[in-house]
Order: sequence, then C-alpha cells, then structure tokens
Amino acid sequence: MSTTVLGYPRIGDRRRLKQATESYWSGELDTAGLEDAGRSLRRQTWLTLRDAGLGHIPSNTFSYYDHVLDTAVLFGAVPDRFPSPYIAGPEIDLDGYFALARGSDQMAPLEMTKWFDTNYHYLVPELGPDTRPALRWDKPLAEHAEARELGIETRPVLVGPLSFLLLSKPTATAPPEFAPLDLLDELVEAYAELLGRMADAGVEWVQLDEPVLAADRSTAELDALRRAYDRLGGLPARPKLLVQTYFAEIGGALPVLARTPVEGIGLDFVAGPGNLDEVATLGGLAGKTLVAGVIDGRNVWRADLRQVLSTCATLLGLADELVVSTSCSLLHVPLDVEAESAMDPALRDRLSFARQKLDEVVLLGRALDEGHDAVADELAASQQSGTPEPAGTTDTRVRAWLESLAQVQGRSDYPQRAELQRSASSLPALPTTTIGSFPQTAQIRKTRADHRAGRIDDAEYQRLTRAEIDDVIALQEDIGLDVLVHGEPERNDMVQYFAERLAGFATSEQGWVQSYGTRCVRPPILYGDVARPEPITVEWTTYAQSRTDRPVKGMLTGPVTMLAWSFVRDDQPRAVTARQVALALRDEVHDLEAAGVRLIQVDEAALREKLPLRRADQDDYLSWATAAFRLATSGVADSTQVHTHMCYSEFGEIIGSFADLDADVTSVEAAHSRMELLTDLGKAGYQRGIGPGVYDIHSPRVPTVDEIEEALHLALAEVDADRLWVNPDCGLKTRGYAEVEPALRNMVEAVRRVRASLGAHARNGM
Ligand code: GLN
Ligand code: ZN
Repeated sequence: MSTTVLGYPRIGDRRRLKQATESYWSGELDTAGLEDAGRSLRRQTWLTLRDAGLGHIPSNTFSYYDHVLDTAVLFGAVPDRFPSPYIAGPEIDLDGYFALARGSDQMAPLEMTKWFDTNYHYLVPELGPDTRPALRWDKPLAEHAEARELGIETRPVLVGPLSFLLLSKPTATAPPEFAPLDLLDELVEAYAELLGRMADAGVEWVQLDEPVLAADRSTAELDALRRAYDRLGGLPARPKLLVQTYFAEIGGALPVLARTPVEGIGLDFVAGPGNLDEVATLGGLAGKTLVAGVIDGRNVWRADLRQVLSTCATLLGLADELVVSTSCSLLHVPLDVEAESAMDPALRDRLSFARQKLDEVVLLGRALDEGHDAVADELAASQQSGTPEPAGTTDTRVRAWLESLAQVQGRSDYPQRAELQRSASSLPALPTTTIGSFPQTAQIRKTRADHRAGRIDDAEYQRLTRAEIDDVIALQEDIGLDVLVHGEPERNDMVQYFAERLAGFATSEQGWVQSYGTRCVRPPILYGDVARPEPITVEWTTYAQSRTDRPVKGMLTGPVTMLAWSFVRDDQPRAVTARQVALALRDEVHDLEAAGVRLIQVDEAALREKLPLRRADQDDYLSWATAAFRLATSGVADSTQVHTHMCYSEFGEIIGSFADLDADVTSVEAAHSRMELLTDLGKAGYQRGIGPGVYDIHSPRVPTVDEIEEALHLALAEVDADRLWVNPDCGLKTRGYAEVEPALRNMVEAVRRVRASLGAHARNGM
C-alpha cells in the first residue's frame, strides 16, 4: 500500500511563477532570476509533498509554460518556422521556448487549445513527415537529479507517446495523407532513449500520462498503444512504467494495456467510476500495480473518506499492489484553503485544495495500512453530516419554484417568431453588432479596483462607469453599427461577475488555477442553491439604451458556462444545478425584457468544452445543457430576440444541438475556417439567424475591408441574407481601441458594399 499524487500546482503561492515569468518578459528579471524562481518552486513543492507523508513523489510536473510544449521541446518537435535548434545541449533557450508559446515579431506561436474538458489550455505541437523526433532536452532527468539533491527520490512524469501524437496536429505543409500517429515508432525510440538514461540515473518508476485513452479510440489507435508499450516494456534496462490515465473510463484500452509488460496502470475512479467494473470484468490486474485515482483532482470538496475507503477495499482485491492517488494532476485545483482567511468558516471546512488533498491521500493510505481504527477521528471528521451547512446552502423557495416549473411553456416555433421579429424590426439586411465587451482599458480596471477597495463610493463608481458607457455608445453610433452593446465595463470576468451577484456562489481570495501560461483564473465556488436576489445587468443595459435610439443588446452568461468555469457542488447532479442557475438567469432575462430590452444575448462559451469525452455520455449532457439554456431564455415574448454566442468553430458533435438551444441568432467563430462551418450548420439543419465572426479578434492585426467583404460573400454563398448577422469572432475586451476602432469601421464599410450589391430589397430577420 502506498500513496501518491499525479501532479501539483506549478504556479506557487500567490502566483509566484506568474510574477517571475512576467518580470522576465518585461526585462526586469534576468534568466538566472527566472531559473532561481523555478528552482525554488520545485523545491518547495517536493518538500511539501514529502512532509505531507506521500509514499511516491512526482517530478517533471513543473513547467515554465505548459507540459505539452515541454514534451514537444523535449523531443525536438519544433516547427520549421522556428529557427532550430532552440535547445543548445541540456540548457534550454528560454526566449526560444517562450516564442513557441507566445509568438514573436516574425513567428506565429503554436496554437492553443483546451486540455480535454478542463479550462487548462495546452499548446498544440505541429508535426509533419519531416519531423524527426529525438531526445533533445534533459529536463526530466535534471529535475529528478535536483530532487535527489534534496534527498527525495521522485517519479518523473511525462506525456505518453500516444497522447503526445494524438494531441498534435499536422503542420500546414504536411500532405493530407500524413497523420501525427505515423511518427509513433520513431517517437517511441526517442522515449526508449530517455528511459535508458533514466535507468542509468537509477530512476525507479516513470509515469507516462495517456489521457487520450479517456475518449473513444479506434482499433488502429489501440493497436498503436499496444505497440508503444510492448516496445517500451521490452527494453532491457528501464524504470518501471506506470501508464496513467484520467478524466473518464478508458474502456477498450484497459485490456490492451493489461496485456503489455508495463508494471503500473493508473485509473480515474472519480470521473470514471465505471473503471471499477472494467477492472473487475477483466478479473483484476494480476501482476500489476494499480494507481487508484480516488481523491478528486478536479473539484474542491473534501472527500467522504469512509466512502472512498470502501472503493479502495474493493480495489485491493483486484491488483497486486494498490497506490492511493488523486484522480488527475492537482494542477486543476487551487493551492491551499488556508489562504482563504475571509471565507465563511463553515464553507472553508468543506473544502479541500491541493494541499489538503495531500492529507486526504495520506490518511487513506494510513487507514488501509494500519486499519480504520488508527485514523477513526479523521475519518469521522471527513463525513460532514454533523457540521453546520454554510449559510445559504439550502433555499427552499428555489427548490419549490423549480418543481413548479417542470413544464415550462416554450415560445412559439421559430418561423413564427422570426416573422414577428422581422416585421417589428427596423434593422437593415446583414445587421452589424459586436459580441459584448469593448476594450478593458487601464481606466476601467482602475475604476473597478478603486470601487472594490473603497477609494471611490458607489455614486462615483456609477458616474465613471456611465461615462465609459457613454463613450462606447457614441463610438458605436459613429462607426455605424446597427445593434449596440454597453461594453461590459463593470465586469471583471464573464462568470465571476455573475457569481458575485448570485446566491449560492462563493468567491475565493487566492484560489488561483492556471488557465494557460501565466494566465490564472479564480473559479467561483458554487456551493448552494442558486438564486438572484436582485437584478444584475438591468441598470447598465437600460442606461446604455437611454443614450441611443439604436437597439442595445442585453448581455448575460449562460448556465452551462457558469458551471463550466466554477467549482460546482457534487451533492446533486449537475443537471439540477444547471437548472437552478438557469432559473436565476430567467429572472434576469425577464427583467431586461420588462425594462424594454428587445435583444438579449446569453453567452454559452463553454458548451463545447464540457462535452463528455466518451460518446456514450454526450447525448445526456447535451440534453440537460440545452434544456438549461432554454429554461433561462424561454420566458420572453416571441418578439424579443434571443441571441447566443460560442467562441469556437469546431462544433463536431454538438452541431446538431444548436437548434435545441432555441435561440433566434447564434454568433460563432468562423474567420479561421473560411466560413466552412456554415456548410456544416446547413447540413445539420440549422435554419436560424447566424453571425459567423468575420474577423479574428485574437490577433492585433486590423482586417481590411476587402478581406471582410470576401468573408461576407463566402457566408452569403451558404446563408440567405435575411439570416446573416455580421460581427467579430468574440468580445473585444482583450484588445485596444487602436485596433478595435479601425477593425469595426472596416467591418461596417464591408457590409455597406455588400448591401449595395444585394440591392435594396433585402431585409433582415429582425
Ligand atoms: N459577451 C462576452 C464578451 O464579449 C463573451 C465573451 C466570450 O464569449 N468569451 O466579452
Ligand atoms: Zn467568444
């Protein structure tokens, strides 16, 4: 019996790594200074893990930016546009490394995308037939040696070869028949070399993460899995191999892995409870070590340790050796609950951040080794039924109301509504609009910070924010946009802003989680029944409307996105929690409408992100997720136009659910894919209003009129003019006015030209 965790937050307390890295970027800190900061963080992590009493301690979980980027650099998989080699011998060229992540004057960075269904983003390696994977960096060995100097033996953690390849994409110049998986055998030899060097260094165990096994895999992919681990397992001199999976059940991959010579298999029993049956069906994992992910690495609640122990008891009979572990790396949770001095103690007592999860894992290990009696008090404490509920956990009115709303009356069918909206509207064809936010200037941030700190009072805050709205409205009128927004100057973040104003959510002071690179977020904690004590956005929206004759669109964050970017209670199904959030938003939608707002946008930026990894689980999710959206938005009159926004264009499995949201207009990202998604949407039967983003706001480049005009003609080839909306890809909050203003002017000019070419008869569906 032993204990471990699969990884630990890298950012340090109070986001130390962010401070150091950003100082390095701005030139305030030199290379040695940044390396010192990295070393000190690694050291502190290892000492914390050791002092907590863990049996096995991981290493190589640190990264200056991202662990997938590290893996690409480790094996020299750096695209041609980056002058190689960035790695001179064992020392990394940090500027080259960061250029891969962030780009430079001459080079576009690697693309960034979501890490499975989490809010962490990794950098997508680009591989082509000319990529020659080879061991190019000694980071995992160096970190292992560094820990050994502290007297700590560690288990280096690597992204496994199958996951590395399946998470990569082909280079732009790769022939269409090339797939990254073609490089498997060559890449496996590079891993083999690394394992040989680890063996020389006396490494006992190495952890190879294969999270791609949590999604459905083809026979060819499972065959690649077998080939890779048969080869690595057959090496004459190597550490013991732990193939670690997480985020769901691994299905057909389990029997394949069980037949390879690897010594350890790691399974997630929190996100993938079905793994238990799968191990049992296999008759156990004879001869292997089972690393059992029983403490949730994705959420912040203390575990009910007695219940977890009963799972462990079942597992004990199914493998040669059991190692108690977290379900995934603790990268996804904040560092330490102890830093939350202002939180309601009753809530804090129920929380377990990374530091507390170490204690939970160690305690489970002791209970299994020494017997439950040895830790009886701690076990009892983990069952919180006796302790007081945090204030605001239960709201009987919310529950009663939800019951009574079991059958919400939807709006009329879309065609009928569209007709009504069309006749009630004075919008021209191809109405122009934006996604909601305008640039978050230093002035706006300062106003919010001053208000929060009490340096300015409510009246002054309102005056300054209204002045900002005045400017944004005036600018939009001057540019000639058709549907205006208030610009969201009052919002720090699209989820946190609402969470701070809804009952049932708490926010943390230091609950930072890495989102990508140095960007960290503080997800709200959804712990209780959700209600909206008072209107949230009505005042700002109606103020904006009072400043213009053009329609102003109201702006809310949808229920699925509220859940996706929060830590959510796990004592009831997410579908129920989503309905509660939806109900609170329904109140807000109702009040906006009552205040005269005729267009209301409910953003569901995270609908795709939360799609379950396994196809078998997807329909259920899509069904409750779209139902929650409808619950939030279906209370309005047919003449009120409901918009939604999603910030991506790879819809894949969810495209069929677009219509199920029952929104009148959907804006999406499309600039990258040259409007191709419109074809897919048409095929999927989507016949409503659509606003494909006509330019990419993620780049500071100002699009030309010609470019946007071309995008519009491409769109019109797929979509009738009376359903086409014109807008940028996403909100403008991360951009500056220097780019936003000319870009929007060009967008409006392009629309003028296209309208002229369409003739005067075309009118839009609003
Ligand atoms: N309305 C939000 C904004 O414009 C939407 C942001 C998003 O989709 N990520 O900022
Ligand atoms: Zn967006």
